[in-house]
Amino acid sequence: MLFDTHVHLNADQFEEDLEETIERAQESGVQYMTVVGFDRKTIPKAMEIAERYENIYAAVGWHPVDAIDMTDEDLQWIEELSQHPKVVAIGEMGLDYHWDKSPKDVQKEVFRKQIRLAKKVKMPIIIHNREATDDIVEILKEENASEVGGIMHCYSGPVETAQECIDMNFMISLGGPVTFKNAKLPKEVAKAVDLKHLLVETDCPFLAPHPNRGKRNEPAYVKLVAEQIAELKGISYEEVSETTTSNALEFFGIQS
Ligand SMILES: [Zn+2]
Ligand SMILES: [Zn+2]
Repeated sequence: MLFDTHVHLNADQFEEDLEETIERAQESGVQYMTVVGFDRKTIPKAMEIAERYENIYAAVGWHPVDAIDMTDEDLQWIEELSQHPKVVAIGEMGLDYHWDKSPKDVQKEVFRKQIRLAKKVKMPIIIHNREATDDIVEILKEENASEVGGIMHCYSGPVETAQECIDMNFMISLGGPVTFKNAKLPKEVAKAVDLKHLLVETDCPFLAPHPNRGKRNEPAYVKLVAEQIAELKGISYEEVSETTTSNALEFFGIQS
């Protein structure tokens, strides 16, 4: 059994074959998923999918790349949706310094507003981090994000920072990059971090694991991530799949 904690089945890439993609996931042992909406277009689709499928949950937030577009009404909308029974987290939110559509100060402000919202509605947060690790950790500390905790999604930073995040009640979620031959840090994290703090994800349709790198990613491939973690830790695949699944169920507050 597997829990893919970060999917974008709400993306255009799954428009044609959503049903078949979910079936392939189930055949690979993926029983649960969290579909993440992060703007005006993807949030309603995430809600629609979570309402349609029993074991698919939703997270709603605003992506840092589009921070400049977020209005007070959008934040209000996210707050209202957080009360929906299938919504299990606020996010993804965070900082992305790879793209410059939204200036850094705007990204930081939108990130802080969402952390405050999550604390208000008492829900964990999902963090998107690209080339912004130090600023992310600083803001999480300043905003006391440990009060709600969260997930460092598709974590690719060093072990020390992972530990700092764990100390703030965050889970470390590993995705496709842990399977890439040249990905030194995710492999180190997979080895060093205790399994009780780890989750697995695909972030599909992006970041497909080896040997599907470069293709469209899908939840069925999360199995490759769990297999790689098992190999790196020198433990069984069953232990990784069972523990990361129970970690995710507990984290999201889902009764299985
Ligand atoms: Zn992301
Ligand atoms: Zn994502």
